[in-house]
Amino acid sequence: MLTKLRHSRPVGLARYYLYRDILLARPRRHTCNICGWRGRRFLTYLHPFVLCPQCGSQIRHRLIAAALQWHAVRAQTRLDEARVLHVSPEYCLGLILRPRARQYVRADRLPAACDVRQDITRMPFKDGAFDTVVVCDTLEHIADDRRAIGECRRVLVPGGTAILTVPQSDNRHDTYDDPAVATTEARAARYGQPDHVRNYGADFGDRLAAAGFTVTCVDASAFDPALVTQHVLRPPVPLHEPWGWNDRRIYFGVRR
Ligand SMILES: [Zn+2]
Repeated sequence: MLTKLRHSRPVGLARYYLYRDILLARPRRHTCNICGWRGRRFLTYLHPFVLCPQCGSQIRHRLIAAALQWHAVRAQTRLDEARVLHVSPEYCLGLILRPRARQYVRADRLPAACDVRQDITRMPFKDGAFDTVVVCDTLEHIADDRRAIGECRRVLVPGGTAILTVPQSDNRHDTYDDPAVATTEARAARYGQPDHVRNYGADFGDRLAAAGFTVTCVDASAFDPALVTQHVLRPPVPLHEPWGWNDRRIYFGVRR
């Protein structure tokens, strides 16, 4: 079995690079605003044509990169020479966070590819230890998400910024969270994934505000349509599942 794996992996990678660098190369219609990859289209991951074949960025990551170019968001989000905590760290966001930070800490529930193993509802950091906290698509897995949001605030300095995303139903205002939905099958049917414990609505920003953040929300409608197409900041092929998740929103919460 091991011999088979050892021989199959290089062949798989060679085929992948052939596909990415030759078959996807032209026309250079789309650009990843994180790693700079340019090509005909992104790859399919849950949504068709949304995954960067080079750095693995998805729509939410490229929206964060685009939003950080905005004056209002850029002015309130400290990244240069900052102490940055990246929870459930994604490789692609590390590409824009790590080079600018004075201290870059990756924390996760699982020890793989992180610096600190933690439970997000009980972070092992002092109050005000960070200037910026980044948490993407994590809270929908956490039973006590309000406590996790409170921890994000606690470890920030006053005036520090939390950058947060959650999968949100497109047309739902109220977060849907039913204790009766307890099995993996029921969660997959109601929330879209077996490991999700709720479906957030547009009221997610209210949760952040109630926890002590001043919130700025950015989505694809804030950008020029040509830029949205170029960086794929909205799914080119929308999904029509009841839980939605097509229009991603980025929340920048400044600790009050
Ligand atoms: Zn990329």
